[in-house]
Amino acid sequence: VFPHLFQPLTIRGVTIPNRILSTGHDTCLPHHGLVNDEYIAYQEARAKGGVGLIVTQVAGVHETARYTSHLIMANSDACIPGYRKLAEACHAHGAVVISQLFHPGREIMESANGLLAVTYSASAVPNERFRMMPRAMPKALIDEIVQGYGDAARRMRQAGLDGVEFVGSHGYLPAQFLNPRINRRQDEYGGGLENRLRFLRECLAAMRAATDEDFVIGLRLSATEKDEEGLTHAETLEAMRALEDQLDYLNITVGTSASLGGAVHIAPPMAFPAGYASAEAKDYKEALKIPVFVVGRINQPQEAEQILARGEADMAGMTRALICDPAMPGKADAGRLDDIRACIGCNQACIHHFHRGMGISCIQNPESGRELVFGTHPVAAKARRVMVIGGGPAGLKAAAIAAARGHAVTLFEAGAQLGGQALMAQLVPQRAEFGGIATNLARECVLAGVEIRRNARVDADLIRDFAPDAIILATGARPYIPSYESDGAMQVVTAWEVLTRQVKVGAKVVVTDWRSDWIGPGVAQLLAREGSSVELAVSGVHMGETVPLYVRDVTAGELHRLGVRVTPYARLYGTDGDSVFMQHIASGEPIVFEGIETLVLSNGHLPVDDLSGEIAAMGIECHQIGDCMTPRTAEEAVYEGMVAGRAV
Ligand code: SF4
Repeated sequence: VFPHLFQPLTIRGVTIPNRILSTGHDTCLPHHGLVNDEYIAYQEARAKGGVGLIVTQVAGVHETARYTSHLIMANSDACIPGYRKLAEACHAHGAVVISQLFHPGREIMESANGLLAVTYSASAVPNERFRMMPRAMPKALIDEIVQGYGDAARRMRQAGLDGVEFVGSHGYLPAQFLNPRINRRQDEYGGGLENRLRFLRECLAAMRAATDEDFVIGLRLSATEKDEEGLTHAETLEAMRALEDQLDYLNITVGTSASLGGAVHIAPPMAFPAGYASAEAKDYKEALKIPVFVVGRINQPQEAEQILARGEADMAGMTRALICDPAMPGKADAGRLDDIRACIGCNQACIHHFHRGMGISCIQNPESGRELVFGTHPVAAKARRVMVIGGGPAGLKAAAIAAARGHAVTLFEAGAQLGGQALMAQLVPQRAEFGGIATNLARECVLAGVEIRRNARVDADLIRDFAPDAIILATGARPYIPSYESDGAMQVVTAWEVLTRQVKVGAKVVVTDWRSDWIGPGVAQLLAREGSSVELAVSGVHMGETVPLYVRDVTAGELHRLGVRVTPYARLYGTDGDSVFMQHIASGEPIVFEGIETLVLSNGHLPVDDLSGEIAAMGIECHQIGDCMTPRTAEEAVYEGMVAGRAV
């Protein structure tokens, strides 16, 4: 089906069986700076699923490289046994394994290890995102770090890995030396291109000298950093032409942590089109002789195949696609395209977990990152008759897992469509792909043999007639309407009514955002796009506090572009005529919005739980999951579905 995607690629005698690449990505799975069994199980699941090349997450080459408390450190031989076990586990399934070698320079969070980090860069030029003022590296420290790269490469060689990837992307240390606006040194490491390349050349030479001729050494680079201060496409292209003789491949991405629009390119959310960075890679592919890899929301094998067929790159980075469905390569190779659980670019459980210091996972695939606990679901000791009530994400996942374990599962959905609130989330601008979660989970149900009954509202009589051995109750929620004072003059509607087009709102609107989630900003965006003047009144410090960082960056930019005014610390008090009265939560002072025609309420949910009492009275085993235990995110709902599906 995919003639280009399943072509092997040989680099320095190392043959990668196909063109699917899992790029280096932080997982927060390792602890104490070492590769551990959790991380090995995570990567082994991808290898088993058929990925061609695994680039493992960044490994620090020097003590000054610690940028999070979860960073693997490759600055001592203690790292070798863990990497050896990892390489053996992945090699057993045919995957090639390369480790990223890393120094972030000034790109360090102040909270790393809970201490204020002292950072170093080529020069003392501050970092915008983390607000760090680095110290210019003295020559002795440069020498130590160059040596650190060499020693780390030697350790990876000893551990049996196939190569290393020098991380110069996203504005990390090599890019800081390369960038004339950050590197203001007067010595042999600053000035003209060859001087700015000196640090990169020395590191690459140290890595080669410490390893063998058949050891792969690649470079990851942002083709353009998309920032006023960042490297431009022309600058990096010129630099790579000069550096090519020291590289076995070039792995292209875009952006830095300070890019316009935020660090979004590190894990571009669903607002970005699939494969959007491949055009950047094309120029390198044309200019260089070495293989060029590319990333950028390549979430389906069809996208990857097209990028390869157009000659824009030699390998396709499909990291989140593999987090979401580790078996994707094998399914693609077998032509089972409908069975692929496609990543929707929500960032909710992968990079959002990393930003919260938690092990990464996937909202659609909670088994991901938890392979040691949920890697397999035990076959049921005795097949039971299981009734799942509610066809939202929680009910769908529960039904799929219970059926896959051997139970006879029937899912009852009161409406015509499966998906619950995911169907509403997909109606928000730039979130259309969210509906994919419903499609994917419904497919899991079909594959597992779940009987699905739509337009089937369940009551006590139906439960008695059906006589299940166990019930999974996933009946969802409805909007919560807070109490507030009102003279009844103003149109007051819920966010759900707006999203489902049940109401028409006025020209001047106030939207409340009590949960600081996607609903308030999403509705504000929708109404502003349609011409309303919108005030978004959020209860927290800022909009979208619970929304993944890069998704929030995109939304914040869009709200600003649309002229939506955001008021923080706002609590609804009441309406009078065309005025909405709120209270500033911190000061207690009034906030008044005047000339308002419609108040849109996004104030959380109430559980829909009409059956649990009667089920208890019948004495039937019951597991309550998802938004009928509100508040629940889609991630929490799916996770609970998996747990309930294992428990029946
Ligand atoms: Fe993709 Fe969302 Fe899963 Fe991350 S959590 S892998 S973005 S579907």
